[in-house]
Amino acid sequence: MAILVCGGAGYIGSHVNKALNRRGYETVIFDNLVYGHREAVKWGNFVLGDLKNPNDINGVFEKYHIEAVMHFAAYAYVGESVVDPEKYYFNNVANTLNLLHAMRTHGCNKIIFSSTCATYGEPERVPITEDMPQKPINPYGASKLMIERILNDYDAAYGLKHVILRYFNAAGADPEGEIGENHNPETHLIPLVLDAAAGKRSDIKVFGTDYDTRDGSCIRDYIHVNDLADAHIRALRHLELGGESDYFNLGNTCGTSVLEVIDSVKRVTGRDFKVGYVPRRPGDPAMLVGSSDKARLVLGWEPKFADIDTIVKHAWKWHEKHLG
Ligand code: UDP
Repeated sequence: MAILVCGGAGYIGSHVNKALNRRGYETVIFDNLVYGHREAVKWGNFVLGDLKNPNDINGVFEKYHIEAVMHFAAYAYVGESVVDPEKYYFNNVANTLNLLHAMRTHGCNKIIFSSTCATYGEPERVPITEDMPQKPINPYGASKLMIERILNDYDAAYGLKHVILRYFNAAGADPEGEIGENHNPETHLIPLVLDAAAGKRSDIKVFGTDYDTRDGSCIRDYIHVNDLADAHIRALRHLELGGESDYFNLGNTCGTSVLEVIDSVKRVTGRDFKVGYVPRRPGDPAMLVGSSDKARLVLGWEPKFADIDTIVKHAWKWHEKHLG
């Protein structure tokens, strides 16, 4: 019996793949390598394939006995999703239907799905709890919410059990330095600030200093990628033990501002760099912080690397060695 990790060559998928292997699971990593990296797949069996081709994914189920699926394969650039929504709905929604169909055809009835806090849109209050309305404000968030709805219908009709995990801002890297974050193009704050610290960028630009927050910059809930990985293993155990379908926020319930991230990078790396101040980036809510009470209660999940300096330290260790 193996766990199929769709999108396992990407940032979060590769960390979860390592965690699964560490706990003795056999894994099959299915990835088209459009954004993923072959060298990030250091554990398990690798299959090059694309969910848009039903033959590719059916072949995996024919070759391996798949107990459960973890589904990370998706496009995740919010800005791009606004400019080219079709790309997002085809890849994130239509291609996921091919995966679900292959699962049904081969009698696999457990899936852990990577969703996002972007499904909540502009929250009415923080910390965000799972019962708050989901009103995404961009096609990326909408595409993830569509799959959440589809999974609910598939459970009711076909008994396909799911755990939906809504990530806040995934950050950090494997503390052992074997894998890390490597997006191309990179748009995320922490790797960009690390680039500035490494001298690969002339400066870091703060998008907006006039938000109604403690220092005027945006606040986000940065969650260590290994803590996310641990939550996936717990979600899998939940389904393996016969648990019902469920959905959870994964965050630290603790917000860090853009300026605080920059200070942390300066502290951790011991390097100084230029900081520029520019207008707000369209579509950025002032504050996104998630309550993780439900994941703690039901899954017994407890983030271990909640401190921003630890998250930045692990990210820097990998960044310096591989991207510096
Ligand atoms: N941000 C910034 N400068 C950058 C990149 C990001 O000030 O060069 C801010 C962005 O406006 C947001 C926060 O950093 O408030 C986190 O952005 P990121 O793109 O990492 O994640 P998001 O919250 O958009 O998913």
